[in-house]
Parts: sequence; structure tokens; C-alpha cells
Amino acid sequence: MRDTDTFVTYHKALMELSHDTGFVGQRRHLKLEALTALCGRLLEVERVSVWAFPPERDRITCETLYDRRGLSNQHGTCTSSPRNGDLSPVSLFKSDHPNYFEAIVTERVIAVNDARTDPRTASFKADYLSAVGVHSMLDTPVFEGSRLSGVVCLEACHPRTWSLPELSFAVAIADTVSLINTHEGWMNSKRALDYITRYDTLTGLANMDSLRDRVAHLADKIKRRRSGSLALIWIDVDRLKAINDGLGPQAGDSVIAEIGNRLKNLRLEGKDVLARIGGDEFALLIRNRPRAASLEDAALHIQDAIRQPIRVAGQSLSVSASLGICHLPEDCEQPQELLRGAEAAMYHAKHLGRAQATVFDSAIQISAQSRFALERELRAAINNRELDVFYQPILDRSGDRMVSMEALVRWNHPSRGWLSPIEFLDIARGGSLMYALGECVLRRVCEDWQQADAAGLELPVISVNLSAEQVLAAELPDRIIDLCAEHQMPVSALQFEVTEDSIQGDFNTLACVLERLVAAGAELAIDDFGTGYSSLARLKSLPFSRIKIDRSFINQLPGDEDDCAITLSILGLARGLGLMVVAEGVETPAHEQWLVEQGCDFLQGYLYSRPLPFPELIDRFFHHHPVPDLSPK
Ligand code: C2E
Ligand code: MG
Ligand code: MG
Repeated sequence: MRDTDTFVTYHKALMELSHDTGFVGQRRHLKLEALTALCGRLLEVERVSVWAFPPERDRITCETLYDRRGLSNQHGTCTSSPRNGDLSPVSLFKSDHPNYFEAIVTERVIAVNDARTDPRTASFKADYLSAVGVHSMLDTPVFEGSRLSGVVCLEACHPRTWSLPELSFAVAIADTVSLINTHEGWMNSKRALDYITRYDTLTGLANMDSLRDRVAHLADKIKRRRSGSLALIWIDVDRLKAINDGLGPQAGDSVIAEIGNRLKNLRLEGKDVLARIGGDEFALLIRNRPRAASLEDAALHIQDAIRQPIRVAGQSLSVSASLGICHLPEDCEQPQELLRGAEAAMYHAKHLGRAQATVFDSAIQISAQSRFALERELRAAINNRELDVFYQPILDRSGDRMVSMEALVRWNHPSRGWLSPIEFLDIARGGSLMYALGECVLRRVCEDWQQADAAGLELPVISVNLSAEQVLAAELPDRIIDLCAEHQMPVSALQFEVTEDSIQGDFNTLACVLERLVAAGAELAIDDFGTGYSSLARLKSLPFSRIKIDRSFINQLPGDEDDCAITLSILGLARGLGLMVVAEGVETPAHEQWLVEQGCDFLQGYLYSRPLPFPELIDRFFHHHPVPDLSPK
């Protein structure tokens, strides 16, 4: 046969194989086996193998061997290995065969008639060529992209010179292996990319996109079959921000990863996809479960799993979650409505307090729609300075003398009437309105003070609540000093309350802001003490002079032993740190008596007065003065 005919025969055979649909769809190792077998048969060589460099490139390892003498192809192993007749892959080391490695890198194609004497391959003689009975060798390079990644090795047991068509065919086989490798590499990166776009890297769970697709697919199925149901549980981890701010983002990540793991391992009937859909949010899809049953035990199981202490950064944290549940087709028909409904129900649960679960209903639907409208209205109310401030007296331990009064924001909504902060602070937070809201309150307090001052009233210190957004704003002290100056008011007429959660942010900024406020003459109180994660170290190094015990501990006094113990320990801590203590939520004479007996310094609560509009407060507590004109502006 002429060379050209041989060329055509070989390449046609290769083309037929590589275009065969069966071959194209095969896994890589089967493709390599088919290629080496074809090469061995056509070129009548005893052994054809594919070798690869590992990343260290200090050796070359046999991936596939075709042996015409009866030994079948072995993927990843060369059972005929003369050196280690076991099933582990054969490797030839660069340190043992430096000439061969040099040649394969520089010459790329190595065609050897007598491998035992050729300087490039002679080092194989002792333990390889003789043992396998190889006489001639033809090695061609395999690439991945432009990088040499291996060789295809043809080994004949008799002396032979390699013809041009044979060389060309061996190169074509190696090129085909290169193509397969490149394709495989591409597929792997595509899979990795898919993974990144479909899965959350921290937890390995599906992400929001995957969840949406899954919900859409299942909702469509339910619609077509007119049977089946879905429940989506929206899980929002409470106060992850406090953990992130207090212990660092890595601690927050560990908590999320641990919760993800626990939810993954949770056995629940009908459990379908579990996704991480936001920083501190997960969603769990449950199929074909009756509406009532899905709330009761699924929610309990989830909360139970999350509630178990989590050890992070040397601390044991107790975390809770708020859950919202929505059902399809009972509550909604469209997949996106299922997601929105579960989210709205979760917000509702958060609103009720932490660690609650709520099932979607029509009232929630209305509230979800109106949440957005409310945020718009609140923004406008803040811009137009329409927010109001009520004041609640804080008394000394005799219960007779007002020592200060707390300014508490109120919103007189045009259609909803008076709204308390619990009803709109979350919306302000969500809409990044807290700083502006705080400024609005401060201005209002200054105006009230100035008006009372003009009327000759000597007001006690006014205690103003500051949000995290305010205490982390470096310009806050200057802003307050300017506002006070504008109203001819000393800064010492003010006191500030900061919640435990708000002092978890960047310590330097925080310390600087608080110290400047104190230097300007204001006192500082730590609010809602006992509910957050404040560390003692932080508390000690910030210039607080008061602690306000959260009213949730006061509520059950003196009957509840735990609350008594907590309150006593806060009182002891305050004494140790030289801080004054205010008890909030004093509602009954029994509360008062117990607190006074335990040495609490100041009292605040409905027993003395609810928060009052400014004119009413003046009327009630400054009645011996002529009542100035304090009608609301
Ligand atoms: P807080 O600073 O701990 O304020 C005390 C809350 O307890 C007030 O609720 C007050 O009305 C209520 N309270 C006082 N005595 C009693 C009592 O005897 N029984 C009961 N059940 N409640 C009592 P309010 O006004 O609804 O404020 C809630 C929270 O909203 C405040 O808690 C504070 O954290 C926040 N807040 C209020 N005004 C502002 C503000 O201007 N700026 C910021 N950043 N937060 C504010
Ligand atoms: Mg307060
Ligand atoms: Mg409080």
C-alpha cells in the first residue's frame, strides 16, 4: 500500500471512531481504551498506552494500557506492570529516566528502533523493556491547552522502523487524546461554574436560583396533575448581625455553616430541596404534606435543631430562628407567590418576637403589600419631620422624684393612627432610615427642651435612644453638639441609651463616638441589658454610667426564680463596675418593692406613667408651674 493510501486508511478509521455517537457520549476512560485498541490493531503494535504527568511533573503515570497479547485494557492501572505487578498505576520517575523526560519535553515525538540502546530510552532497559519484551517505541505528546500533559506510547516487541503514516497516525491519536482532555477540562470548569451559580459555596446547599427553578418545576407539575402540594419554610436566623459584629464574620460563617449542616441532616417527611437564600436565610421545600401537620412538627424540628448550642470562637452560642410558612396551592398559585408569601410570614413571625413560626394568611398578604408602602410613607414622614416624641418619666427609688425622662419616638400615621416604634422601626432598619429617624428625634427633643426652657421650666435630663447606625457614625458627636447649640441647650441636658446589640460594631469608631459624647457632657446608659451578647470587656472599656435592665426580666418579678437571679446578677455586676441601674417596665408595687429592696437606683414603668405627649407630661409633672403653650407643632 502506498503511503497516501495508508494515511487515508488510518485517518478514516480514526474519524469513524471519533465521530461515532456511541464514542462521543462515552466516559473518558472508555474513549481512551477504544483509541488505544484502534491504534494497536491498525499499526500492529503489541502495546499502546496513554500516560499523564501529575501536577508535580516528577513522573509519568500510566492511565490506560492496550496489550494485544491478551491482557485487556485497564483504566488507570497497568496490571502487566513488570515492576509492581499489583493493581496500582505504573509510574516512571524523572529522577530514574532523566534522558527520556528531557527528550519528551524537547523533541515531543520520540521514535526509537531499538529502545534498549537508544540513549533516550536505555534507562528503561533493566526493569521495564526486558521484562515486558519491548524492542521499539514510538511516543507522541498529549497536550491540555498548550501544556504538555502526557504521552501516547506505542511499544512493539520486535525491531521496527516507524513509517511516516504510522508517525502521523500516532500523532493523530495523541491529538485526539488532547482534545478529549481539553473537553474534559472544559466540562469540569463548566461544572464548577454551574456549581458556583447554582450552589452556595459556604454550605454547599442550593442557592436562590436553584430553589426558584425547583419550585417552578414542582408547581408546574402540581398544576398539570391537579394533585400534590408544596410548603415553603422560610428560615431567618435571628441576630446573626450581632454575632458577625461581635465575634467577626468568620464566626458568623461558622454559625451559618453549622445551621446549614443541621438542617441538611434533619429528617422530615416530604423534605425536598434545602437552600441558602441569603446571608442568614434558608428555605426548605416540603412536598405533599397536609397544611396543619407541616407547621406543627416541621417548624418545631427546625427550631429545635437550630436552638442547640453552637460552639464558635471558644464560645457557646444559642441561636434562634424566625420561620414563615406558605403553601401551594392553598395560599397561592404561582411559584413566586409561594416565595413571597413565606418571606412575608417570616417577617410577621419576627415581628411577634424572636424564635416564632407563622403560617401565611390573608392578613399577612395585606401586610406584605403594605410594608413597601409604609416604608415610603415613613421616609416622607422623616423628611418632613412629622415624627413625634413621647416622654416617659424615670424616677428615683422613692418613686416620687423624676430624675430623667426617656424620649420615645411615635408616628401619627394619617390612616393608621398612632404607631409605636415596634410597628415601624423594623421598616426603618430595612430601609436604612435609622440614622435619619434618630436625627429627627434629636431635633424634636431639642425643640421641646428649648420651648420648656423659654417657659421657665427646668426639665430633668432627657434620655434619647441611639441606634447602631448613629453610634457608628463618626460625625454624630459634632451633629449633636451643633443641634444643641442651635437650640441654646447644653449637651449635658441629654443622656443617651444604646442597646447591647448596637455596641457590637467596630470598636474604635464606637469608642470614639461615645467618648466624645461624654466629653461634651452627656451621660450614657446601656439599654435592654441582658438580652444581647455584649461582652464584659466591651462594657468595661466604654464610658457607660448606667445599665437599664430589660423589662422582660422585670415582668415576672419576684415570682420567677430565674428572672430574680438574672436581675440580681445584673445589679451585682453594676455595683462591681460602679454603674447605676435603671429597671424598665415596673408595672406593679410588687415589682417596685423587690427592686428597691435589692438596691436598684431608678425606676421606669407604667406604675408611674406611660410615655406621654410632651404637653401632657408637663401638665402632669410640672403642674405647679404655669402651663406654657406646648400644643403640638
Ligand atoms: P426601650 O428604649 O427599652 O424603651 C422602653 C420601652 O418600654 C418603651 O416602649 C416603653 O413604652 C416601654 N415601657 C415602659 N414602661 C413599661 C411598662 O411598665 N410595661 C410595658 N409593657 N412597657 C413599658 P416603646 O416606646 O414602644 O419603645 C420600644 C423600643 O423602641 C424602645 O425600647 C427603643 O429600643 C426603641 N425606640 C423608641 N424610640 C426610639 C428612638 O427614638 N430611637 C431609637 N433608635 N430607638 C427607639
Ligand atoms: Mg431606651
Ligand atoms: Mg429598654
